[in-house]
Amino acid sequence: MSGSDCEPTTGQRSTAVSAESARPTRVLIVEDEESFLEALRIGLGREGFAVDVARDGRDALARFAAVEPDIILLDIMLPRLSGIDVCREIRTTSDVPIIMVTAKGEEIDAVLGLEIGADDYVTKPYRFRELVARMRALLRRSASDSEPKTAGPVVGGLAAPVVVGAVRIDPARHEVAVDGQQVDLPLKEFQLLEALMSRAGRVVVRDQLIDEVWGHDYVGDTKTLDVHIKRLRSKIEADPSTPERIVTIRGLGYKFAD
Ligand code: CA
Repeated sequence: MSGSDCEPTTGQRSTAVSAESARPTRVLIVEDEESFLEALRIGLGREGFAVDVARDGRDALARFAAVEPDIILLDIMLPRLSGIDVCREIRTTSDVPIIMVTAKGEEIDAVLGLEIGADDYVTKPYRFRELVARMRALLRRSASDSEPKTAGPVVGGLAAPVVVGAVRIDPARHEVAVDGQQVDLPLKEFQLLEALMSRAGRVVVRDQLIDEVWGHDYVGDTKTLDVHIKRLRSKIEADPSTPERIVTIRGLGYKFAD
């Protein structure tokens, strides 16, 4: 596959800007073919996107966490971790629009990509203008349904109750219920649960959890967080040995599954 399959040369210089903020729309290109990557980088830069690049699957996950892109172009055949696995992993934490990029003959993988949560796919060689049109369509769609789903509105200085699945937390009353049954939690475990549930569906990184729950009181032992998570799981998970509510995101932190 050569870079000439992609046609980034366009005289038009529109600017891709998120509706709600003035920052440019960030696109993460995950692609291991250098010539292809370069053409895309230049073309999308001209279209006004802020472009970030990853050259393999592992790098893609790291860049995703670091730059929080608005949209991802994800090649399927990648070193270290396939585009399918990358997509699956990202979907455990994020609804960011993902366009899978496939080579001829990889259509079956592309279908799999859609099954595991990609939003669209294009097959190489594709026309650059078509790719940009699809990207903009997806971005419009995601902008229109990006209302926050779980953030508890603040009432009288205290967060309102948050309900995620069978778990309900009421910070003002300091109450937690699972399947309607009250669960007693010590303060730190309660705060930990609140920190996770107020961002249900998103990864909360370890440092942030430690900072919010312990602040300066956190003494040395990095296991403290894990121990509290374990205790919390024993109280709110159906089966604490295979947690489905508080999920570990390896190398990053934890997520309350929505
Ligand atoms: Ca590839």
